[in-house]
Amino acid sequence: MRYLDTCDRCLTEDSKAIPPSVVVPTGPGAVLATYHCPRCRTTWVCGWGVQEDEAAA
Ligand SMILES: [Zn+2]
Repeated sequence: MRYLDTCDRCLTEDSKAIPPSVVVPTGPGAVLATYHCPRCRTTWVCGWGVQEDEAAA
């Protein structure tokens, strides 16, 4: 899974990285991923460079 991130608000050593709920392209080679923490329900966004699926390459 691409663009996994962890919640800054309730981050612990046991926190699992979660996948984004939405990924939108923001420019050449760049995307903006939106996350919803299942634990504290905060929402955040993170910009990424595009990560290609190896299987699809
Ligand atoms: Zn959280």
